[in-house]
Amino acid sequence: MEINSNIAAVITGGASGLGATVATALAARGIKVALLDMNVEAGEKLAAELGGIFCQTDVSDADSVTAALEKARAANGQERICVNCAGIAPAAKTVSRGEAHDFALFQKVININLCGTFNVASQSALGMSNADPLNDDNERGVIINTASVAAFEGQMGQAAYGASKGGVHALSIPMARDLAKSGIRVLAIAPGIFGTPMVTAFPQEVQDSLASNIPFPNRLGAPEEFAKLVIAMVENAYLNGETIRLDGATRMQAR
Ligand code: NAD
Repeated sequence: MEINSNIAAVITGGASGLGATVATALAARGIKVALLDMNVEAGEKLAAELGGIFCQTDVSDADSVTAALEKARAANGQERICVNCAGIAPAAKTVSRGEAHDFALFQKVININLCGTFNVASQSALGMSNADPLNDDNERGVIINTASVAAFEGQMGQAAYGASKGGVHALSIPMARDLAKSGIRVLAIAPGIFGTPMVTAFPQEVQDSLASNIPFPNRLGAPEEFAKLVIAMVENAYLNGETIRLDGATRMQAR
């Protein structure tokens, strides 16, 4: 898909971290952005800076997503790019201190990271499927979900997170097949460890320790590098149904 100022995008988790950087990079290329997030203060602020729109959203709630997409489309038109970055990452072991993993916490992580991603992606796909094709390939849109290297080698304490991200990875091919006739591509990015506020808030020695296991480049990923892959995925119509690791060759240790 050619990136130009006629294109609109929705970005979940757009108020912080990877989502905020993606929104900034897309807006810098003239794309009309809508940030879907729970964090009203940060979301409103960034949306104003980017000339975009903020839609308060809980991605795990179907009605909330319907209302957010209606608001985004009323302002910017039908989105052709949907980037799902909203997510949470609480750590808890399967059994710890004589207690089984809090089942409600497990459900919450799956609900936000996996069900929330599918909720937004499927409702966005419906809107895209009713829009006119954009080019000779009859392309109508692209959906990019955020998995994690924890989809493949989750660490200790990441049973819920790893399972949720494994599910996001597993969505890529069946959704791409479901949506092929509508000209909608579905992709996922599996980041390693990125320098988002979540991670840069750690003490420097913790960040250094996280970075020390990354072969090359031997540092945390920059959110801008994540945004660059999003843009490459948007522009390259032959990328579809795939999850791409973006991790400097990291393979996570057990702990
Ligand atoms: P972040 O905490 O900076 O941003 C996440 C955003 O999601 C926040 O703005 C938060 O308000 C929003 N959010 C949370 N729950 C929501 C909900 N129910 N509805 C709407 N919005 C909600 O985190 P980040 O590091 O930018 O992570 C973005 C994504 O990338 C997440 O899915 C995360 O799992 C994934 N990821 C991050 C890393 C990393 O190293 N930072 C690595 C692998 C995967």
